[in-house]
Order: sequence, then structure tokens, then C-alpha cells
Amino acid sequence: MTGAVGVPVVPGWKAAFRDVDAAVVVDRAGGELDRNPRADALTGGLRLAELLTDESCTKLDRVLAAPRTGVELITVDGAVLDVAAVDAGDGSVLLVLRDVSRYAAAAAKLAVVTDQLSRRNRDLSTLYEVSAQLSSTLNLAELGEATCQLIGEYIGACTVTVEVDGHRYSWPGHPPAGPASGSLPLPMAHGAAGVLRWWRTGELDASERRLTSLIAGRAAVGFDNAILHATVERQADHDALTGLLNRAGLLRLLPTVAYPAALVLLDLDHFKQVNDRHGHDTGDHVLVRVAGTFRAMRSTEILARWGGEEFVSVLPATTVDDAVIAMDRARRRISSAIQIEGEPVTFSAGVASLDSAEEFEQAVAAADDALYRAKTAGRDRIEPA
Ligand code: GH3
Ligand code: MG
Ligand code: MG
Repeated sequence: MTGAVGVPVVPGWKAAFRDVDAAVVVDRAGGELDRNPRADALTGGLRLAELLTDESCTKLDRVLAAPRTGVELITVDGAVLDVAAVDAGDGSVLLVLRDVSRYAAAAAKLAVVTDQLSRRNRDLSTLYEVSAQLSSTLNLAELGEATCQLIGEYIGACTVTVEVDGHRYSWPGHPPAGPASGSLPLPMAHGAAGVLRWWRTGELDASERRLTSLIAGRAAVGFDNAILHATVERQADHDALTGLLNRAGLLRLLPTVAYPAALVLLDLDHFKQVNDRHGHDTGDHVLVRVAGTFRAMRSTEILARWGGEEFVSVLPATTVDDAVIAMDRARRRISSAIQIEGEPVTFSAGVASLDSAEEFEQAVAAADDALYRAKTAGRDRIEPA
């Protein structure tokens, strides 16, 4: 019996290998002595020297010099052969060949899949961190800065900015002078507008783009909540018509006032007539103007609409006498600034001392008595309690 290259079959254990796998017997110089039919099928009848790339031929020479297993050789048409070289002890070497092209392709893909999975893991933990950080505050500035920083660190940007509700936040500092490298609208509710911008070299890849827009979406929900929260808080503490504090807003501020303070209860004179003669809208307009005039004077640090055409002011660290002087100035200012068809708008006020937040009710009652005296004495005047 002879092998494919016309050399007598080598007896013994080498024959056993030849029956199971593609096997080639070579001498130390690489000359083929024998091969089995499977080797012929695998190599298409070609000698290894003809089949392998130059680089793999060199590799094979080294293997023949020192036989070992687990060597990969590449053929000229790109197939990958796994070679186990066994020293036969008679000067020949048995090469057992297996085509592992499919495994090699799968192994190459495995690296890509492993990389994608670890990236996905990193993205998920980033998202988790983002959700935790962005849901920990309802403060718009904190949210803005956290969003910029989280996205900036994730995409490795030199600067990230967020514009929302007329405010701009940026990380780590002011943005560079040039145009941004990219931007994304923030999907905000309630008609608010928001936009995210970043400065960095290179486009975002698909994965960065996906996660950045997820973070932007999460941030937009946070901004919506923060804006809504601020609006509701403001509405709870302020009067809708004049924008002044309401009763709840004033009561909430009392503990922060510097005592002893002065409390002023003031009431517009003959306001019913304003409505009756000029209409309710004009009356509303007068209330807004009175609030605006007080605000512009800044003599009344805390001013609340107590109800109807009545207002309460608390003047911190002020004596009753000084408060009467300040209010008298306000009275003259309002009657010269606000007139309806030549008729000045006037008010009367009662002033009481307020030594602590706890005495607020008594101070209001005392100021009310003084206000009553001001009204009965002819209006357009300030009375101390
Ligand atoms: P006095 O000098 O004694 O205070 O007379 P007055 O007419 O101001 O007093 P009165 O309490 O009889 O009337 C207050 C009026 O204020 C009654 C109401 O029509 C008017 N008023 C209360 N709230 C509002 C408001 O929000 N808008 C308008 N336009 N009018 C209001
Ligand atoms: Mg009144
Ligand atoms: Mg009145």
C-alpha cells in the first residue's frame, strides 16, 4: 500500500491517526512522505508547500524543527488549519490537520460581540448613574450642571452646555468661542424649549448617540418636573393678579424676619367706587399698579396681598415711628403716580409693632384698629397703633 505521494505507508501508531483525521507525514525538511485520503480532501491534493502562504510555510518549518500542537496555519485561499505536529521518532513528523476556518471566524466575531456586550454594560451602568443623579434634585441649576457633566464625561467632550427655560448651564466651564460639534433638542413637555450642545473632536458613534439621547430624554423629564415644581411652589405662595406674596407666602417668611419689626395693614380708599365708576378691569389694573409702585420703592421689603384691596407689609428691624414715616412717603408717591381721570388713588394704613413671628395675629389686630382710626379720621393717612 502506498500513500498519495507514493511513499510506503508507515506502520504503527501513525496509521491510527491517519484513519481519524487528515494526516500528512513529512520529513524534517518538510518533504511529504505520506498522507491519508482525508488530507487529500482537505488540501485538494496539493502539497502543503503549495497550499500555505509564505508566512505559514515559515511557521511550518519552525514547527517541524520543534514539533508541538495548537499551531494555526493560513492557506493562500484564506482557510485556517489547526496543526498538531508529533515527532514520530524515526526522523519523520506526523502533521494532523483540521480546518478550523469556521471556528476562527466565530472566534473573531466573539471578540466583537464581547466588546459590544461590555460596552452595553458600561452604558447601562452609566444610565443607572444618570437616573440616580438626575432624580435626586428638583433644582434646575443642579440638574443642568449634572446633565452637562454626565454627558461630557460619557462622550469625552471638552465642554457640554444645556439651555433650558431661558437659562444656560455648562460643564466644566464656559463653552469655546467656535460653533458646537453637535446638538440635540431636549424633548420637553409644556411647550418649554431645551437644547443640548457639545464640543469635542470626532462625530458621536451610534452607541454614543443612542445613550446621549437617552440621557437627554431623562434630563428633559427632570427639567420638566423642576419647572413644574417651581411654578406650583410660586403659585402656592403668590397672588396671581399682582404677583405679590399671598397670605401663605407671608406666613412662611415670618420666621426669617429680623425682629423687632413693624407691621403695616393698608387698605385702598373708596375702592368700591373705583369698580363702580370705572369697571372691575380698571380696579384690577389699579391693584397691579399699586403693587408695582411699592415694589419699585423697595421701602417695603415684604409685601403681601392680604385679600381684596388690603395689603400687609412687614418692615424688618424697623420701629413703628420709622414705619409710619416710610408709609407716609409711599402714600404720597402712590397718590401722585396713580390717578384715575385726575382722581388720585389713596390708601389708609395702621402700623403696629411686631416683636416676634408668634405675635403676628395680635399685631394684625392692633394694626386693624389703627387702620379703622385712619379711615374714620378721613382716610388717606397713616396711624400708629
Ligand atoms: P374704604 O375706603 O372704606 O376701604 O372703602 P372701600 O370701597 O375700599 O371698601 P369696601 O371694603 O367696601 O370695598 C372694597 C372693594 O374692593 C369691594 C370690591 O369690589 C373691591 N375688590 C376686592 N377685590 C378686588 C379685586 O380683586 N379686583 C377688583 N377690581 N376689585 C376688588
Ligand atoms: Mg377693604
Ligand atoms: Mg378699601
